Amino acid sequence: MQGTLRKMTSSLSDVVNYALPVGEQELSLNPLIGKHLRLTFTGNIYCDACGKKTKKSYSQGHCFPCMKKLARCDMCIMKPETCHYAKGTCREPEWGDNNCMVPHYVYLSNTSGLKVGITRHTQLPTRWIDQGATQALPILKVKTRQLSGLVEIALAELVADKTNWRAMLKGSATPLDLKHEANSLMPQIETRLAQLIEEFGNDAIERLDESVVDIHYPVDNYPTKISSHNFDKDPVVEGTLLGIKGQYLIFDTGVINIRKFTSYEIMAEHE
Ligand SMILES: [Zn+2]
Repeated sequence: MQGTLRKMTSSLSDVVNYALPVGEQELSLNPLIGKHLRLTFTGNIYCDACGKKTKKSYSQGHCFPCMKKLARCDMCIMKPETCHYAKGTCREPEWGDNNCMVPHYVYLSNTSGLKVGITRHTQLPTRWIDQGATQALPILKVKTRQLSGLVEIALAELVADKTNWRAMLKGSATPLDLKHEANSLMPQIETRLAQLIEEFGNDAIERLDESVVDIHYPVDNYPTKISSHNFDKDPVVEGTLLGIKGQYLIFDTGVINIRKFTSYEIMAEHE
């Protein structure tokens, strides 16, 4: 199978079911665990947006002109609180309408410890799976991406907002009582929430009372030492596939973050 990589698709089941998009095809990954898998980078990178060949990948799979031009590659995607749509300076207002000016969730999750995160309303549970969370709980539904960023900042003063990916890949996180965590965090941001509601309106923030979602990953063995494969340094990534967690393939020879290599053309071979 040969084609450009995109991030793995996943579906929530007893264990997460993963597939690797390779060009127009999809490689089912769960059946390959315990088997030998080889991914070979051909040296070609084709922009995820315009399809043109690019020497280097910018913003996870884009050519340089697309990286400068597309809203999805703007800094405000990494820092949602800096959304500048309201100022009329969004790079692609229509894309903003569909992706940023829509409901977002603020959630707590357990990746390698307690973490706060945000995502577009259509991206659950995908976002949790992409981050390798073993538990997750949506706590607020807010009107826009910017608002989710503003709430996240308030919560990030109390809990982490980044995943420790090395720890995440070394095993299953110790279970947390996310409901209890939410109940103790919410009163601490009450004042800030009241300010935001005053600024953005009564319907801007909705409190949720959801159940905790448990997520199990198809991993036979966790590595004790993490070394990373990198197609830019070595075009051949191969080994016995030990498991899959987040956007990482875990081989007996090291791990690879598939998302980092979006748009890389590869050949996939397996036993
Ligand atoms: Zn492009």
